[in-house]
Amino acid sequence: MTLIETSTLDVQSLRSDFPILSTKIHGDKPLVYLDNAATTQRPRSVIDVMTTAYEEQYANVHRGIHWLSELSTDLYENARESIQCFINARRSHEIIFTSGTTASINLVARSWGDANVGQGDEILLTEMEHHSNLIPWHQLAQRTGCTIKFVPLTDDGLLVLDALDDLFSERTKLVSVVAVSNVLGTINPLETIIRRAHDAGALVLVDAAQSVPHSVTDVQKLDADFLAFSGHKMLGPSGIGALYGRESLLEAMPPFLGGGSMIHSADLDGFKPADLPAKFEAGTPPIVPALGMAAAVQYLEKVGLEAVHQHEHELTRKAHQVLQQSDEVRLLGPSPSEKAGIVSFVVEGVQANDLAMVLDEQGVAVRAGHHCAMPLHARMGVSASARASFYFYNTLEEVEKLGEALQAALRIFRR
Ligand code: PMP
Repeated sequence: MTLIETSTLDVQSLRSDFPILSTKIHGDKPLVYLDNAATTQRPRSVIDVMTTAYEEQYANVHRGIHWLSELSTDLYENARESIQCFINARRSHEIIFTSGTTASINLVARSWGDANVGQGDEILLTEMEHHSNLIPWHQLAQRTGCTIKFVPLTDDGLLVLDALDDLFSERTKLVSVVAVSNVLGTINPLETIIRRAHDAGALVLVDAAQSVPHSVTDVQKLDADFLAFSGHKMLGPSGIGALYGRESLLEAMPPFLGGGSMIHSADLDGFKPADLPAKFEAGTPPIVPALGMAAAVQYLEKVGLEAVHQHEHELTRKAHQVLQQSDEVRLLGPSPSEKAGIVSFVVEGVQANDLAMVLDEQGVAVRAGHHCAMPLHARMGVSASARASFYFYNTLEEVEKLGEALQAALRIFRR
């Protein structure tokens, strides 16, 4: 591999913060981890914050009057404020801790959806949604009789915005759209979609699972009504995520899960819900994961999301270059200028799983399958794809390695 100069990030120094990145697999092969859209790795600082919490600061939150519980509660609420600042929400209680993007979207579909959507109302999605932003709306349709419409895609995997005029109607209640496709890498024009939706009287939920970790998010500037994301895709632990919701909407929504901590008062005849954010956080929350997510945010702020975005863009351009060296490889999605650090591809006559297995033998970890986006794959005319997805700790050398491993795989499959 040749050494290549890259963007402003000191990637080698950043990599040394991630213990797992020095792993060797299959004997002596350096791990080339290109499965970051599925989940990212953790820096030592995130692991340390969680270890310290378990060793020195752990008790249940919001319940005890005792010292340790107060400490734990303070840390948990400080974590909420870190997330609030990270996405520039107006108030910390607009951040609801959930178990991840999936749980956040289900919360909106159940709570807001059941209360506000009826027979004949319309929900507008796109053809590129992850199942997390598709199935909850199918379930809402089953419960309420609402209709789901879809913004179509070009063959290059861009949204056909011209279709919006025909898709919006007086019955459109919500547009729920992915910020960055987890398969195509397409960066969607959220500002335009949100403005058009609001003009049509509809709310907007943004599935930001693949955007919050990689670029600056400002919910006030965006004017999003809801925004969902996951900790484990942004250097944090699994089991934690967040739902941002506009205060007035969250205030008006009924609680979704019932149980401890979400009530103001209860008696045998009923209950009065607690104020935000407790109303939506029934039961013992993911306390230490929340601290881990906040530590991840702190790390990302130190690295700088502009630099992260720029570096990933260079990796994507390089990936397009190396993968396009072979005519047999078809890249899904638009050109690098319109996509984030996600590059999915198919090879004529080769199963994506087989391809991923041969790449893995050479140390290169990519994902294969439908990536929880079956309708999108059907639209692209394939049933599965291989996907390389990058984070700021990946190097141009690793992308070259992906290209070399693919060439080696193709030689094997051609035999
Ligand atoms: N939406 C998108 C675009 C995703 O990529 C993912 C994760 N693959 C999800 C939603 C679901 O996230 P989680 O599994 O963390 O709930």
